[in-house]
Amino acid sequence: MSPMRKDTRKAPVKKDADASPKRTVHPISPVRGMRDILPSEQPLWNMVRAKCIEIASAYGFERIDTPMVEETGLFVRGVGKYTDIVEKEMYSFETEGGSKLSLRPEGTASVMRSYISNGMVSLPQPVKLWYMGPMFRHDRPQHGRYRQFYQFGCEVIGEEDAVTDAQLALISYLILKELGLKPTIRINSIGTTETRTNYKNALVSYLRGHRSKLSEEDKKRLLRSPMRILDSKDPAIVEIKAEAPQIVDWLDERSKSHFMRVLEYLDETNVPYQLDPYLVRGLDYYADTVFEAYVEHEDEQGHAQLALGGGGRYDGLSEVLGGRETPGTGFSLGLDRIVAQLRESDIKPEKKQVDIFVAQLGEQGRKKALAVFEELRKAGIVSGEAFAKDSIRAQMEVANRQEAKFAIVIGQKEVLDGTAIIRDMESGTQEIIDVQKVIQEVHKKLGK
Ligand code: AMP
Repeated sequence: MSPMRKDTRKAPVKKDADASPKRTVHPISPVRGMRDILPSEQPLWNMVRAKCIEIASAYGFERIDTPMVEETGLFVRGVGKYTDIVEKEMYSFETEGGSKLSLRPEGTASVMRSYISNGMVSLPQPVKLWYMGPMFRHDRPQHGRYRQFYQFGCEVIGEEDAVTDAQLALISYLILKELGLKPTIRINSIGTTETRTNYKNALVSYLRGHRSKLSEEDKKRLLRSPMRILDSKDPAIVEIKAEAPQIVDWLDERSKSHFMRVLEYLDETNVPYQLDPYLVRGLDYYADTVFEAYVEHEDEQGHAQLALGGGGRYDGLSEVLGGRETPGTGFSLGLDRIVAQLRESDIKPEKKQVDIFVAQLGEQGRKKALAVFEELRKAGIVSGEAFAKDSIRAQMEVANRQEAKFAIVIGQKEVLDGTAIIRDMESGTQEIIDVQKVIQEVHKKLGK
């Protein structure tokens, strides 16, 4: 069909056998605990993503993407069978071929799996990787907790020096601080497996003395994962915890000196940190240093410290996953919570400034405007348009909404004359320019 002729054909009316009598079609909502991140929210998300990437890149990290689905065994072995994540929160399924798979609940186990399966041990060490993407945990949805959420993480694999632990705590702090938040790092050492075994015995005998105050869930934990009880926010536990034995007293000389060095490096960086003798983190792979980044937060329940991210050392993880003995340290940040905090603190991304809006009138004007828009784009000038709109008024409304500083107007007459009108959107003054020189003229106007 000629592009000039209007298409007057009617769309065929489908006769659907199911269509009568009319049935109500219910709209489909997102799955509980999952949500859309809409275009209007993306500028803030982009600001967070960009800051994570900027700082990780400056510190020599490279991006890695791993699949969102892995063998369930990866997380059972890596994260730990008796962790909340694996016991209660994984989206697991069996394929027709009988493979047991899970949506990843976190990133570290996958990155270590990738390090092993891709033979990254033969690369110059350490290997420094960052990742960003959705994680899935079937937890009870509530404020700041989703079933699909997003994490950014950094991992340093193949380096045991304490300076790495400090550097990772520093990077997580810097990202949050440079975004405009006021984070603090909470840090502890949970030593070696042997340390933890001894400590657990002491902790269990202490907690047994307070058994009547423990919830049913915590009583179960007493047998299988007593250190997790320390993670509890239950006021009864918070009270019991105050007198509980502290793991630092069980650290061996090597762990103690490693931890001291981490703290000394942190002292050099001016990162605000607090020693938290009861910080254990909920995953099995951690050893020695563990830390969390948190901010002070007010909500309906009052004042709380909200964790925005966490990490630590995981020297045993590689072997658990069938690799060689390889040290590793890392952290992950929860992007959803960071975005929510920025919103609460009224921190906004810089608005994309539209320099010039390209308006058109008539078919010839529209064609010329298309070409001019592309010329402007190639020259790096941020332009706006509403080519599908006919009326100048409607186009100017869009231009105002986009807060364009200038508009170019090209109509039939301008096409014939080889000109364009350039309009100052604030003062309303207009000027006729040679359309061939549009880039120069726009640059001049913008003072570039
Ligand atoms: P974790 O390793 O579990 O401490 O997770 C690291 C960070 O990810 C947390 O500090 C949160 O900011 C974020 N995060 C973890 N689980 C969720 C969730 N269900 N929804 C939103 N963010 C989460």
